[in-house]
Amino acid sequence: MATIAEPARTSLPVVPPSPRNTGIDYELLLDCVHCGLCTAACPTYVELGTEMDSPRGRIYLMRAVTDGRLDLQADVRRHLDLCLDCRACESACPSGVRYGRLIEPFRLYMKKTQGNEPGPIDRLSRLQRWALFHVTPYAERLWLALAPARLLQRTGLDRLLERSGLLDWLPPPLRQLYDMLPRWRRYRGRLPEFLPAHGKKQKVVALFTGCAGAAFFPETNWNTARVLQRLGCDVWVPRGQVCCGALHYHAAEEVKARAFAAINCAVFGQRTVDAIIVNAAGCGAMLKDYAHVLGPTAHAAAGRALARKVRDISEFLVDLKPQRPTHPVKLRAVYHDPCHLCHAQQVRSQPRQLLEWVPELTLVPLDESEICCGAAGSYNLTQPEMAQRLGERKVRHILATGAEAVFTANVGCLLQIGRYLRPCRPEVRVAHPIDVLWASYSGEAW
Ligand code: SF4
Ligand code: SF4
Repeated sequence: MATIAEPARTSLPVVPPSPRNTGIDYELLLDCVHCGLCTAACPTYVELGTEMDSPRGRIYLMRAVTDGRLDLQADVRRHLDLCLDCRACESACPSGVRYGRLIEPFRLYMKKTQGNEPGPIDRLSRLQRWALFHVTPYAERLWLALAPARLLQRTGLDRLLERSGLLDWLPPPLRQLYDMLPRWRRYRGRLPEFLPAHGKKQKVVALFTGCAGAAFFPETNWNTARVLQRLGCDVWVPRGQVCCGALHYHAAEEVKARAFAAINCAVFGQRTVDAIIVNAAGCGAMLKDYAHVLGPTAHAAAGRALARKVRDISEFLVDLKPQRPTHPVKLRAVYHDPCHLCHAQQVRSQPRQLLEWVPELTLVPLDESEICCGAAGSYNLTQPEMAQRLGERKVRHILATGAEAVFTANVGCLLQIGRYLRPCRPEVRVAHPIDVLWASYSGEAW
């Protein structure tokens, strides 16, 4: 690892030796006073204990490259690639460093300047890259691609395969996907375009259904819509909505991400609604950031308009102050904070409140609930070793609580936690808070 001089904070304008245009707003780099208070919140630092795998270390690296004091060599790239973009450092930083606004342009710069050096996405197999960019962001394609897995589950052949050891012969990428698959429950078909409010109408909302979420957890979208209906909301599920673009954006594919964002702005802009409801933290954070994502384009105003309306389902329901559910669901449960809900959107108490509304559900504290579980979009494909360490770390904490259910509000977290929890405690259910809330409102079996 090349040695770099620690940059000094100065009140005078900084004149770097031979600056490079890394796309970073230099003033934002100067916000970091190198206090190190963020390190204990950083998952990669907590696991590895190395300064260059901490937020402070990564900010040093980005500033040294921007200043021209350090070349963007392979080991520098490695430390930056290992960052989950979880933004736990933003929550921990007393100086208000906006780490996301540093790493995102810097990743674009790394991609532009990588030459023949393959980046994390380039190291994936063709099949993985194709699945990631051409299947996952399209709900209907993903649903179709998962048909064989659903059939295996429905016929019980999946358990036979597991017992036979044949799964060990699958190529690693397919085996990884298989291990992540949730248990699908009853499929109710596609959500209708409009679900009228029950009783007196209070609000009109649009529902963002997502891509991976719609394919892996269709029941959660149904439960979201039904809770909203029951609490007096007209629910519009716009046809033509597409992936929020987060998968592409975090993989430094900004052109495609902006194309998705522009389509969503046009689709959701067709009607006036009180809120656009999202039940997946990663999508919610991206949609709320459309003003920034679309900032340099002709769609900037539409991006701002859409972003203003976006609400996580838990934020919206808590503000609605509805009648509480009455059917008891006796459970000892924990809640894991998705990074893109607690750090990117600062939503922490509301999902817990939804769970506390459920009679006889006991919510117990989870150690390190705000430390990333290792899902982080495509991270579990590009950095499988660290993703596994963080997944297993999360599961150790969950097991220590004796919980019978784990709730979390993001598709990636649901898949990742399920993957590492199932082999040791298959009976512990991993679900979205809205799933148990619907059971408590409706009296349907949990
Ligand atoms: S990012 Fe914030 S908490 Fe971390 S070292 Fe810099 S100023 Fe301190
Ligand atoms: S975004 Fe997450 S992984 Fe990256 S430096 Fe910040 S805390 Fe660490």
